[in-house]
Amino acid sequence: MTYDFDLFVIGAGSGGVRAARFAAGFGARVAVAESRYLGGTCVNVGCVPKKLMVYAAHVADEMEQAAGFGWTLEEGNFDWGTLIANKNREIERLNGIYRNLLVNSGVTLLEGHARLTGANEVEIDGQRYSAKHILIATGGWPQVPDIPGKELAITSNEAFFLKQLPKRILVVGGGYIAVEFAGIFQGLGSATSLLYRGDLFLRGFDGSVRTHLKDELDKRGVDLQFNSDIQRIDQQADGSLKATLKDGRKLLTDCVFYATGRRPMLDNLGLEHTGVELDERGFVRVDDQYQTTEPSILAIGDVIGRVQLTPVALAEGMAVARRLFKPEQYRPVDYRNIPTAVFSQPPIGTVGLTEEQAIEAGHKVRIFESRFRAMKLTLTEIQEKTLMKLVVDADTDKVLGCHMVGPDAGEIIQGLGIALKAGATKAQFDDTIGVHPTAAEEFVTMRTAMR
Ligand code: FAD
Ligand code: NDP
Repeated sequence: MTYDFDLFVIGAGSGGVRAARFAAGFGARVAVAESRYLGGTCVNVGCVPKKLMVYAAHVADEMEQAAGFGWTLEEGNFDWGTLIANKNREIERLNGIYRNLLVNSGVTLLEGHARLTGANEVEIDGQRYSAKHILIATGGWPQVPDIPGKELAITSNEAFFLKQLPKRILVVGGGYIAVEFAGIFQGLGSATSLLYRGDLFLRGFDGSVRTHLKDELDKRGVDLQFNSDIQRIDQQADGSLKATLKDGRKLLTDCVFYATGRRPMLDNLGLEHTGVELDERGFVRVDDQYQTTEPSILAIGDVIGRVQLTPVALAEGMAVARRLFKPEQYRPVDYRNIPTAVFSQPPIGTVGLTEEQAIEAGHKVRIFESRFRAMKLTLTEIQEKTLMKLVVDADTDKVLGCHMVGPDAGEIIQGLGIALKAGATKAQFDDTIGVHPTAAEEFVTMRTAMR
């Protein structure tokens, strides 16, 4: 049977674009459908605009530090409209780059909503296309609990396009997005509260990291409200919002921002015309080669709900392209030791096992921890502390995990990710000569195990 395409990718986000470009590079006839924005979540309403806004918020820190270095600055004046307009211009530029990348690699770009009409068929705007393989790379969408007044709340999708900076904001959730945006809004000048339903945010991160960040956000004046959850939201006569908590407390605010996780984007995708099954959490079920329960259909990225990070979607996209069209180059994605950063203020960088995970997995651990005031702050009044932590297997001396809270944590942890991948031991960390004077050198100079 002949098909219109060898591979039809639904979704031009991180994973879809990578799979399409690589497949086309291997000589396959490839189409990509995109209904919303080229580059997907990461480029349009995720990593990229978020990081630009983190930089904007960080300027407040730099200005606070300036006096210690002899600078006298006039009182800063932040204009939200300028930031958003500049950010939008940059995203448009990136959209154009993604378009060129696809077109120049020979991929057929179809702009519109794609719906599966069979195991080898996709429909866009009434036009049907057949394909030997179909790749679902449709990503995710913010999930807001079903409470009265939820339509009054925003999510990350809207946060990037607010008309003005809210004077007061309640951020709900305790994951990456909640913590990052609490830092952005606080840094830009909003009175920021973070409400999390549990005892301590960032469940799954190392315990020392979680408490350290909590202490630092406290110092910065973020109003942290743990064991708190909203029951309903009501609009007040003056346009402000009243959030009634489950414990009966009422909080007045200008904006309620939900960051309570993301669901797979499967809206009107036509899965019912195929044998594709979902797992118990509602994500697309795939085997270890990303094949769904319908043999001609594969799925990668956020829609499979494994690790919702752009570099992981990229790796999965590449793995699929290789497996289908260049099998001799196929390598499975290694989900161990994925380095990651939370771009909070200060940021977190982490790779490998947390202390809790290492113990749970049966390792006898040695823990090295260092807390210090960064050199850059010594001429200022700022009392922020940096945390660095190593989790080491006491029997093999292998470093199982590296964790950091402090400036440039994401930049520093990337290199340590390579060390962990290579199986480095604590002795090899100790034998590595430091770069002086940096904060990062602390990772190779921690000598005494504290536990
Ligand atoms: P996406 O990038 O979401 O792409 C899916 C695409 O499919 C979208 O463009 C969508 O419009 C399209 N689509 C959906 N349905 C259809 C259809 N039926 N027809 C046609 N097109 C369709 N990750 C990091 O690694 N670092 C970060 O700093 C980071 N920050 C983030 C910040 C925020 C606020 C958010 C929300 C996410 C962040 N992420 C970050 C996560 C990262 O954005 C995702 O893991 C990544 O984008 C997933 O890629 P994907 O290809 O699976 O899906
Ligand atoms: P996360 O899954 O990271 O966190 C969701 C948070 O919401 C958790 O604290 C969770 O609590 C809480 N929550 C879930 N349901 C409810 C509910 N019904 N009521 C109250 N609280 C609730 O999701 P995010 O939305 O923050 O981000 C989605 C994903 O995007 C991240 O997991 C990450 O993979 C990716 N991302 C990556 C970034 C990066 O690399 N820097 C930045 C931003 C996003 P509990 O822990 O108790 O379940």
